[in-house]
Amino acid sequence: MAVDHSSDRWGDQNNPFGDEFYSVPYEEVVRARAEHVLGDNRDALRHFVELAIWEALDRPDHLKVLVSLLWHWEAIEPEWVADACFMTVGDVCNLAESQPIMVFPCLDCGMEIAPSNRRHRIRLLRRVDGFCGDDVGNGPPADLLCQTCQQQKEEHAEQQRRLDDLRHQALLAEYRARPYADRRQTREWTVLKRQIHRRDDYRCRMCGRNGVQLHVHHRTYATYAEERLEDLITLCSSCHEHFHFLSEAS
Ligand SMILES: [Zn+2]
Ligand SMILES: [Zn+2]
Ligand SMILES: [Zn+2]
Repeated sequence: MAVDHSSDRWGDQNNPFGDEFYSVPYEEVVRARAEHVLGDNRDALRHFVELAIWEALDRPDHLKVLVSLLWHWEAIEPEWVADACFMTVGDVCNLAESQPIMVFPCLDCGMEIAPSNRRHRIRLLRRVDGFCGDDVGNGPPADLLCQTCQQQKEEHAEQQRRLDDLRHQALLAEYRARPYADRRQTREWTVLKRQIHRRDDYRCRMCGRNGVQLHVHHRTYATYAEERLEDLITLCSSCHEHFHFLSEAS
C-alpha cells in the first residue's frame, strides 16, 4: 500500500507512521487483538448455545440431555445456559446434575467420587485425560482418589519418608564411624574427589600449580560424609602438608 505522508490526508491520529503509532507497544496491540478474538468467539458460542436451547425448550427430555451436555463444556458459562432456558443458574445446575453424564470412581478402591461442583467435574475429566496420556510413570493424581484412599496414600508416604530418614541417619553414623583411611578406598570418595578436582580445574587452590599430586582438603568436618561442594578444596600435597602443619602449630 502506498503511504501518503502528508498530515492533511492521514490526520495526526491515523497516520500509521506518526509518533502515536509507535508509542503503542507491540505486546499491547497483540493482547488487544487476542481479547477481540476471544470476545467474538465467546459471543458466537453463546449465540449457538441459545439457538440449540431454544429449539429444545418445548421438549423437556431433550432439554435435559442438552443442558447436561453443555454443563461439561468449560468454555460455556452456566449463566448463558440459564438465561437461554429462562431459569436460574441453580435450577440449571440441579437439572444437569440430576443425571450426570460422567462418573469418576476412585482409581484405587472404585468408590465413586462426588464432584463438589461443575468446575470440579470438569477438572476430574481433565485429570483422568492427563493421567492416561502421561507415561512418566507417576502415580495417579490425588484428586482421582477418594478421600480415604488419599489419606492412606499420604500416611504411607509419610511412613516411607520416616523410614528412609532413619535408615539414612543409621547408614551415615556407620559410615562416619569408619576410619578416614578406609573411606579413601571407597568408590564414593573417588567420585567426590574427582568432582572437587574438576571444579578446581585440577589446580592447587593455594599455589595454583597443576600436574602435581592433588589432595582434597576438608574446610570443615561438621558435614563429614555428607560434604557440600563448598566444604572441600583441592590442595597439592606440599601445600596440604604445610597447611596442616600450620593449623596444628597454632
Ligand atoms: Zn478409594
Ligand atoms: Zn599447592
Ligand atoms: Zn586437609
